[in-house]
Amino acid sequence: MDEVFDVMIIGAGAAGLTAGIYSSRAKHSTLILNEGAVGGQMVLTNEIANYPGVETTQGYVLANTMKKQAKEFGCKIKSNISIKEYQLNGPVKSVELKDGRKFSAKTAILTPGGMPRALNIPGEIEFKGKGISYCATCDGDFFEGKEIAVIGGGNSALEEAVSLTKYASKVTIIHQFDHFQAFEHAIQEAKSNPKIEFIMESELRAFEGTESLKKVKMEHLPSGKMSELDFDGVFIFVGYMPNTGSIKNIVKLNDRQEILVDEDKQTNIPGVYAAGDCIPKKYRQVTTAVADGTIAALSASTYLREIG
Ligand SMILES: Cc1cc2nc3c(=O)[nH]c(=O)nc-3n(C[C@H](O)[C@H](O)[C@H](O)COP(=O)(O)OP(=O)(O)OC[C@H]3O[C@@H](n4cnc5c(N)ncnc54)[C@H](O)[C@@H]3O)c2cc1C
Repeated sequence: MDEVFDVMIIGAGAAGLTAGIYSSRAKHSTLILNEGAVGGQMVLTNEIANYPGVETTQGYVLANTMKKQAKEFGCKIKSNISIKEYQLNGPVKSVELKDGRKFSAKTAILTPGGMPRALNIPGEIEFKGKGISYCATCDGDFFEGKEIAVIGGGNSALEEAVSLTKYASKVTIIHQFDHFQAFEHAIQEAKSNPKIEFIMESELRAFEGTESLKKVKMEHLPSGKMSELDFDGVFIFVGYMPNTGSIKNIVKLNDRQEILVDEDKQTNIPGVYAAGDCIPKKYRQVTTAVADGTIAALSASTYLREIG
């Protein structure tokens, strides 16, 4: 019979690798299965400057260090896999890959992460990290004294626009509707900030630049009139997409497609935990993913002790 691991982790981003470090260090046989490159969003991040104890580093370097640490404790990692089927109920949790391989464990930790929603317009991929950002906490200070735009009209967009005024000389909020979908206090805070201007009923159509972003093409929706505006940076806050499509009928999700967990990070299925950007939370950072991964691994460890 194939090996039944103690812990099977789905996703090797910051949350999954941390869970792998804790589980394998606790001498639980641990397997991480990862769809893409190990490291998740960390490897998409040029510079990480806010991970405590680590001076500014490139995302892939931090990811590789976490991977090495997990492997040194005995954690097995299989990347570039694709899961076809999940069986997470019952005492043995198992998955079948598209290539036919099957893996099982006594507990499972789901850490599939997610991605900020993109606008999907020309130039967005080209200038991502070169003027286009999806994270004010991560990239705000690169725009000290610059003129930037914030795209979106929800709480995140308005709150992050206010926080970006600490760095930028001017922040223009561009929103597709004539009203915001945010709490009144967030709207008032943005409106009363002298550094913030608003362009309503408008959508970006393209990003343009040379080495880095220089300008955007924008359509005023009621008139259809196109214009060009110069910005040093554009922050996009139009929603977040957890990578939970493949498990939506397996564990309980909320209406934002995030995996519901209790304070021990346990899902609705006993012995199945979730951690990182895929669970409901306000702040999605490497530090918060690492914290969730820690809790999930320690909870799985307690569960393993209890089932004997
Ligand atoms: C451009 C950018 C810049 C950022 N900058 C910073 C920063 O400077 N500082 C900071 O603290 N945070 C930053 N963040 C946020 C931070 O990177 C994330 O919050 C954190 O890395 C999330 O970790 P995670 O493990 O929850 O998920 P992820 O990093 O998303 O990892 C999930 C992993 O699971 C895999 N996966 C998904 N579905 C499956 C499946 N079905 N089966 C198997 N594997 C699967 C994915 O391929 C991925 O490898 C940034 C994010 C972005 C996008």
